Amino acid sequence: MTDKPQMNDFSRRQLLSAGAAASLAWPMGSALAQEAEGQPLLGNPQLPEVPGERMRWAIVGLGTFAVGQVIPGFGDARQSRMTSFVSGNPEKARQLGARYGVSRFYDYANYDSIADDPEIDCVYIVLPVGLHAEYTIRALDAGKHVLCEKPMASTSAECEAMLAAARANSRTLGVAYRVHFEPNNMHALQRVENGDLGTMRFVSADHGFNANPDWPPHKWRLEKALAGGGSMYDIGIYGLNTSLMMLPGDTPQAVSAHYSTPENDPRFTEVEGGLDWRVRMASGITVQGSSSYCWSPYVSRQRYFGSDASLEMSPATTYYDNRILFEAAGERPREYTAGNPIAQFAAQLDGFASAARAGEQHRTPGEMGLRDIRIIEAMYRSADAGGVVVTL
Ligand code: NDP
Repeated sequence: MTDKPQMNDFSRRQLLSAGAAASLAWPMGSALAQEAEGQPLLGNPQLPEVPGERMRWAIVGLGTFAVGQVIPGFGDARQSRMTSFVSGNPEKARQLGARYGVSRFYDYANYDSIADDPEIDCVYIVLPVGLHAEYTIRALDAGKHVLCEKPMASTSAECEAMLAAARANSRTLGVAYRVHFEPNNMHALQRVENGDLGTMRFVSADHGFNANPDWPPHKWRLEKALAGGGSMYDIGIYGLNTSLMMLPGDTPQAVSAHYSTPENDPRFTEVEGGLDWRVRMASGITVQGSSSYCWSPYVSRQRYFGSDASLEMSPATTYYDNRILFEAAGERPREYTAGNPIAQFAAQLDGFASAARAGEQHRTPGEMGLRDIRIIEAMYRSADAGGVVVTL
């Protein structure tokens, strides 16, 4: 006797008969396979680029967003691959390089020598906002296409200089408004365009979180030189840009805004802690929004009110967890998701790679980044003047 479980007769019989079935099935399977041989390539498959021919990317700035979201996004990309890292921390860069098969490293001093590197086609700027213009222009002058994180830059003058550099070097410049590639937002846009909401009457957009001045990625967000602006620049811009995306064909005409920074909050000596804003559109509808560095929990909410139905997304613009609530008169509200938000990262990379390869504009071009900075500058002018209406 042994302690080991014994195969009983039943399971032995099952195995034997399974084997017998497999050996009988093999000649039939082979015949079927032969019949299938010689089929043409059917349908119109969207084939991924073979690895050696994908657009090759350098990532500039290996911070929380780059490491947490951008770099993993390459795992699902079909037109893009990473070849290079640009970082002020060589040890971190090499550690990440070993993990992701990246072997070309630059720092901020020798960055311009990417011009001589044929293994870089596209550069993704993931630096603090105050560095976007400089590192974008240097990459464009090095002959590379550039996808720059939002907000595009600290001022509209910087955005204009970035666009001029793209034109002078005949390169594609995009701003990384990833929501334009996020499946739930794309679905919501399609519903708006299909007329499922009837006529759009009003849009509201609320975005904020509680800034922690001791955490490095939040610390620079509170310094004007590195952040460009406050909550509206960093988080409110999602509400502004996403709302305008949902109003295709309409244009912003005038803005007004009020600061909502708490009094005597020591975090906000350089940038605003909150801004409440309104944008008047040419169609006559209003987009109303708020942005804050003083809210808990993290808020990301978009609401679209139409003549026939309304659509709410909460959260609306997160990395992993967006959802849709659709409510029409006389019908039960329906809450659902239309896709996995994580797809937005690879879709954005590949969208940019395809546009750059074809010499076309990215879906969210530099001009869109400039438009948004101009609108936010007008909001600041309004808030500085106590909320007067500023025409765009
Ligand atoms: P982090 O502070 O986490 O990362 C910024 C990185 O930039 C640092 O890790 C560092 O990389 C590099 N860097 C170079 N100079 C400086 C400097 N003087 N101070 C601080 N960092 C410096 O910020 P985030 O990753 O949160 O943000 C980076 C960019 O991405 C911003 O433009 C932000 O708006 C954008 N962003 C976009 C999001 C989106 O959903 N689209 C979400 C979050 C951020 P290294 O050590 O390698 O040199």
